[in-house]
Amino acid sequence: MSDIMAFLGLGSNVGDRQSYLQRAVRALMDVNDLRVVMLSPVYETVPVGYVDQPPFLNAVVAVQTRLSAIRLLAETAAIETSLGRRRSIVWGPRTIDIDILLFGDQVIATPELTVPHPRLRERAFVLLPLAEIAPDLVLPGGNMTVRALAEQVAGRDGVQPFGKLAWGCGEL
Ligand code: AMP
Repeated sequence: MSDIMAFLGLGSNVGDRQSYLQRAVRALMDVNDLRVVMLSPVYETVPVGYVDQPPFLNAVVAVQTRLSAIRLLAETAAIETSLGRRRSIVWGPRTIDIDILLFGDQVIATPELTVPHPRLRERAFVLLPLAEIAPDLVLPGGNMTVRALAEQVAGRDGVQPFGKLAWGCGEL
């Protein structure tokens, strides 16, 4: 079975946000039957509506995998659980969010999984990093490239480049 290219959206707005993003990438690298192939630069989303919420850091990761989409969701959920809760607090703050943005050209609509991610097309903090690693991609059922979609939303939602994380092997 050939590998599928999937794109994952990472977000963190609690604690050491950069560290959580990096730990999520490192955990993805440890998943069997999955290879991390590209990492986007990081964007910061300054809260505009809900100003009492800390700003998010967001990035997009491209992976190649022979897992099914639902198995991939189980892996990302396990990583969220391992990074996402403070042990002392039963329902602690969410430190990392991992969304399956795209899974090849598959369209999935089940109770557990909606792919492409339903809010992908309108979210600048997803489209801008995605456009940096897959500008020519056309979403399933669409006709615009990710680059064109990103140009439409650039400057919206208070999204700005944050910089590159220390993704280098030494740091990971
Ligand atoms: P949240 O952490 O608030 O983004 O929601 C996670 C829940 O959304 C999970 O229980 C998934 O079953 C569901 N879900 C539906 N579609 C997706 C997707 N494309 N990526 C990640 N989670 C998804």
